[in-house]
Amino acid sequence: MKKILVTGGAGFLGSHLCERLLKEGNEVICLDNYFTGNKRNIVHLMDNPYFEVIRHDITSPFYIEVDEIYNLACPASPIHYQYNPIKTVKTSVMGAINMLGLAKRIHAKILQTSTSEVYGDPFVHPQPEEYWGNVNPIGIRSCYDEGKRCAETLFFDYHRQNNVRIKVIRIFNTYGPRMHPNDGRVVSNFIIQALQGKDITIYGDGNQTRSFCYCDDLIEGLIRMMATDDSVIGPINLGNPNEFTIKQLAELVIELTGSKSRIIYQDSPADDPQQRQPVIDKAKEILHWEPTIQLREGLLKTIDYFKNL
Ligand code: NAD
Ligand code: UDP
Repeated sequence: MKKILVTGGAGFLGSHLCERLLKEGNEVICLDNYFTGNKRNIVHLMDNPYFEVIRHDITSPFYIEVDEIYNLACPASPIHYQYNPIKTVKTSVMGAINMLGLAKRIHAKILQTSTSEVYGDPFVHPQPEEYWGNVNPIGIRSCYDEGKRCAETLFFDYHRQNNVRIKVIRIFNTYGPRMHPNDGRVVSNFIIQALQGKDITIYGDGNQTRSFCYCDDLIEGLIRMMATDDSVIGPINLGNPNEFTIKQLAELVIELTGSKSRIIYQDSPADDPQQRQPVIDKAKEILHWEPTIQLREGLLKTIDYFKNL
């Protein structure tokens, strides 16, 4: 039985990861400050004697003995990470330093959930891991983008300088049950608007693209990455390469919910990336991973979740 620390474990992806790790017979310690996470996401795991939840903010050091650390703590939706941008940078950067320091001291493997945002508004399309990105360092998304970029730098420097056993994954837009209903991300927004018969709000002209990955596929990729030997450090992209315009997504959500909502167009937020699609050759080769759940199927599962919420 492995002892595994999951920071951000009460969040959307963190809760799915804790559930999966427990199912595989591990002991799981979930660390969260509940900024965007919620006990509701993990309450069904609380009866398991091998699951422990600790309220803690990773901008402060934390001491524990574990075999592996998955570092997910960080608000992920633009509304949430822009709410207190200084705190977002602190969570990414100081959080990474604290967790890397812990990993160094206890010789644990540590996996960082980085993001496709490190590519910014990309000039190279689709995005391979070798692309250095096009990120505005002083814009409203920078607290998240640059925070995550600095966290990657820290991971690689702790690896080079202190031999810390790192794994860096770059996650592309992932959706599914337990997304925060008010976090403003496009999939949850459109589903909730459609279910409530409200206008579906497209920001900009709706021709910007994203590639949407279902949460179960993503979690499988994280687990496979952690299981690799120490020579595999990443970064490795994880995401579904099927790319859709935001307008196509809106139309599909309307179709699948049978909603009477109409689409309206609003101003585009600053620095909104215009296109995004992962190259997943590395994930295929090294992790033998590729997504198995396509958008229509994943949306139906997510719609079911929001219907019952
Ligand atoms: P989420 O907001 O649901 O989860 C983040 C969790 O971290 C929450 O439970 C929150 O309360 C917790 N948290 C935030 N700041 C903290 C702090 N200072 N100390 C302790 N806990 C803190 O978001 P998510 O979608 O589950 O994302 C999880 C991770 O994956 C994040 O690091 C995010 O950047 C990364 N990621 C997600 C996506 C995606 O599409 N979902 C894409 C790229 C990267
Ligand atoms: N978006 C939109 N309407 C919404 C929410 C988001 O048109 O109600 C757009 C947003 O401008 C962006 C895309 O959908 O182009 C994805 O946004 P999200 O916040 O989900 O993620 P990110 O921009 O971080 O990829």
